Amino acid sequence: MKFGTKAIHAGVEPDPSTGAIMTPIYQTSTYVQKSPGDHKGYEYSRTHNPTRTALQNALAALENGKHGLCFASGMAAIDTILKLLKSGDEVISTNDLYGGSYRIFTKIYQDYGIKFHFVNMNDLGSVEALINDKTRLIWVETPTNPLLNIIDIAGCAAIAKKHNILLVADNTFATPYLQTPLDLGADIVIHSLTKYMAGHSDVVMGAIIVNDDELKDRLAFIQNACGATPGPQDCFLVLRGLKTLHIRMERHCQNGRKVAEYLKKHPKVEKVLWPGFEDHKNHHIAKAQMNDFGGMISFVLKGDRMEDAIKTLERFQYFALAESLGGVESLCGHPATMTHASIPGVERMKGGLSDSLIRLSVGIEDAEDLIADLEQAIG
Ligand code: PLP
Repeated sequence: MKFGTKAIHAGVEPDPSTGAIMTPIYQTSTYVQKSPGDHKGYEYSRTHNPTRTALQNALAALENGKHGLCFASGMAAIDTILKLLKSGDEVISTNDLYGGSYRIFTKIYQDYGIKFHFVNMNDLGSVEALINDKTRLIWVETPTNPLLNIIDIAGCAAIAKKHNILLVADNTFATPYLQTPLDLGADIVIHSLTKYMAGHSDVVMGAIIVNDDELKDRLAFIQNACGATPGPQDCFLVLRGLKTLHIRMERHCQNGRKVAEYLKKHPKVEKVLWPGFEDHKNHHIAKAQMNDFGGMISFVLKGDRMEDAIKTLERFQYFALAESLGGVESLCGHPATMTHASIPGVERMKGGLSDSLIRLSVGIEDAEDLIADLEQAIG
């Protein structure tokens, strides 16, 4: 089945009781049993809910995985993976990742005795050099947030396999429309469904997708034991969003290219970060592992002054100044003070995230209007 057909049909069956073509919102906390233990597969909605089951199956199908698990947020999905670890374990992560991931690593799990290494994953040798008998996870995010670096997933998977370590890939920026990390050898895919997957900026949710049955059982145990599960109404919204993922992503990519090319020629713009440019340092990896280059773009104005970036952000009309990304509407943001403020300035600068960097989530409006907005905002 091709991707677009899967996005519409995978995981979803007409409702068995009525034939409803859209999975109903099973707004129930519990399910009646005929006799103790004699039920229809559903006992309590923290553990299972039919609307959630349909979404979990759809997500697994889209990521070419076997099992999907949904959570109340992307961070709850990340938290669940970290709960596989115990004190003394080590994790190797990219030094350029979502601020919330950095925060949960360093402000929560470090205190439980887990050690995190942050490295530039453009150099896979430096990843392998950090591996020891305590290393349990390699954590990649690609494209990275907000510097749009591309990490070689298959290269990381080869290292992880060699040392019997799990590879986790945060696929939030790419979505399975652009890349399927499990096919490239990752063991665990995580998503902030809040972004492109739901696509309409109206829900916060997360997911994990895996192939391995035993790993799924461990993660499902944590999902149920700790209880950060989403409600059925939110699951319904994500299911509905997924049905247009392929056409939304196609347009995000087309608009992304137009905006990136416009910015690159702009006399007031110093540099544009977008993996579709042939001179992007990881373009060859992006070409090999992605189907297109996405609608996330970061740029820096000439002079690299924070006050110029702030003024530009204030002038935007269609690009709304807001946290988050991946919705149908275009957003702009200032990572240093918004999404990545939880990373100390020195660490941010080490990874190349300057205080004047502007991040765009290019939506699916008409590109001409978006470019006119950039024109008036940059001046
Ligand atoms: N991963 C990435 C790459 C993100 O950008 C985000 C949020 O921005 C998350 C994870 C966390 O997801 P959520 O906000 O749904 O908890």
